[in-house]
Amino acid sequence: MKRKATQKKTSRQETTRARARPARKRAPVAPKRKVAAKRTSSSKGGPAVAVTPDLRRRALRVIDGLKEAYPDARCELDFTNALELLVATILAAQCTDARVNLVTPALFRKYRTPQDYVNTPDDVLRDEIRSTGFFNNKTKSIKAACRTLVERFGGRMPSTMEALLQLPGVGRKSANVILVNVYGVPGVVVDTHMLRLSNRMGFSTSRDADEVERDMMATFPGSEWIALSHRIAWHGRRCCTARKPNCDECPIADDCPKLID
Ligand code: SF4
Repeated sequence: MKRKATQKKTSRQETTRARARPARKRAPVAPKRKVAAKRTSSSKGGPAVAVTPDLRRRALRVIDGLKEAYPDARCELDFTNALELLVATILAAQCTDARVNLVTPALFRKYRTPQDYVNTPDDVLRDEIRSTGFFNNKTKSIKAACRTLVERFGGRMPSTMEALLQLPGVGRKSANVILVNVYGVPGVVVDTHMLRLSNRMGFSTSRDADEVERDMMATFPGSEWIALSHRIAWHGRRCCTARKPNCDECPIADDCPKLID
């Protein structure tokens, strides 16, 4: 019986691994700037969840399961520098990364600096990003963020949480996306997948992104935060989806309490 269970798990992992492999070529890797790898301090307060030794041990098993299932997990937005990732992150709101990646090559060829975005008329930018949806708000956000970059940061992208949060429309999630992917600063990106899966897996009981960030940072080792952020997003897209979590084929099913609404 035990052997059967092992075989079932192995086959489940292989199925998920096969699905997890990216079919398209890798996104360009952003050149890493030398930045002191300070951890992003989460917003004030401690974790809401009780971090017990058992929870930490389960977290380590989840890390292992996700690592095996998604060894190549990475940011699925294409970018080559911090400004491009900022713009891609704004465009990705209520839109798939794949759709954003269709729009950004032409955009990034045309707009090289924050000043380029500031100089362009709103209606031109609006048309260029129209297919990503919510193009009026996204145009406003891109222009406002770039205007702030020009006026307060000399046209350069900042590399700290505090400074990134000064950009209009940039919250902790977007700031962490940039810090993690461009500057290699350890942090937990709380996107819709992290929010949903942290609750289903019993690592947080909160629906508040700041609290989830604190819970995950308190439970998982800092050395795993970046990879964990990518792997949770991949797992949320490929297996533990919002509508239909595929618990039968989930590589971490044995370590998940499956707290599904
Ligand atoms: S076992 Fe189910 S609820 Fe838990 S992570 Fe896997 S798919 Fe999601």
